[in-house]
Amino acid sequence: MSRPSSSEELQDSTDSSAAGFPPLTRAAVLACQFSSWYPTFRKHSPKATVIKPLEDRFIDYLESDGLFLPEGSGPMGVSELSDDEDSRNGSESEDDQSWQVTFPELDADIRRILTKYDGAVFPKLNWSSPQDAAWMIPGQALKCQCPADVYLLLKSSDFISHDLDHAFDECVDYEPEKEEESVQEEASAPPQDDLAQLAAQLALQEQETSATDSSDDEEALERPTRRRKSPYKFELVLKKWFDMPKSQEWRCFVKDRKLVAISQRDTNYYDFLQPEDVQADLRAKISAFFKDEIRDVFPSQSYVIDLYLTRGNDRLFIIDFNPYAPQTDALLFAWESLNALSPSAPSSSSSTPSP
Ligand code: ADP
Repeated sequence: MSRPSSSEELQDSTDSSAAGFPPLTRAAVLACQFSSWYPTFRKHSPKATVIKPLEDRFIDYLESDGLFLPEGSGPMGVSELSDDEDSRNGSESEDDQSWQVTFPELDADIRRILTKYDGAVFPKLNWSSPQDAAWMIPGQALKCQCPADVYLLLKSSDFISHDLDHAFDECVDYEPEKEEESVQEEASAPPQDDLAQLAAQLALQEQETSATDSSDDEEALERPTRRRKSPYKFELVLKKWFDMPKSQEWRCFVKDRKLVAISQRDTNYYDFLQPEDVQADLRAKISAFFKDEIRDVFPSQSYVIDLYLTRGNDRLFIIDFNPYAPQTDALLFAWESLNALSPSAPSSSSSTPSP
């Protein structure tokens, strides 16, 4: 999901209903959370594993100031310390214990998933990937090959901060004060919690699924966690890395369960996408896929889907679902034009950039 990149932009974001958008609800946002849609659509989506819920201590680490990496999270399990040389030399002050942070269980989960996925994964939280932090690792892609790569990207990203703290900000039915009260009430309830956590630990779910060969290959790792003030549980999504040519990615806008527009996801110009027959073929493939596989299954009325069409143009994969809302990038369209399109229009419109 594309997100505003600064808190200023977040505050300035438009009131969705006033701007001609359908009112954005928490249910619509939750429907786009990876773990909400993936089990239903996994046969049409690249392989992925969800680690959920993430422990509070890890979220606190992501939100803490400074760029330091948990010890033992590097490529060979060696110590990865702060970018502060003093910490590397072991001369940090007594107050600065940051270099001591470790997440051995999470490290082990990530390493196990890396092994399963041939050594490289693409990380996300519930909705967003840390695309704004891609420059932090070599190659400037989000290709992670050890837990430290994952932590570095997540910790450096404003998009990830948005998932942690602002996911429901634009929702018409979200009242943060009430949420906080109810979470606090739950937190002070008698300690059924500990038993539930133990039960959750014993019932560690391992569910294998696959997108590409229909064998089960995805798993959900459930861990007990302390309660944090959030109306949803944080999840780490690790998708098997694969090279996806940008020119083959399409963003599709669905309004009132009708596919109304398709945009190239990459805004660069590609000569080979220009001929009318190529675009007509693409529209036909995406429309059929939407009608057969998504329209009657996805719970929301209006939303945005990201699809990937394989190089041979023979198979479509679902990469992501996003809310139909201003915080989702309309790419080659302006939201005003999309909002003005009638859902009863006979066919979808598609867009590629001009040379
Ligand atoms: P976001 O919700 O942050 O937009 P996406 O899951 O939609 O994140 O992915 C963003 C981009 O990252 C995609 O457009 C694609 O280019 C790339 N990408 C997504 N999944 C993978 C993957 N499994 N391997 C490699 N690149 C990926």
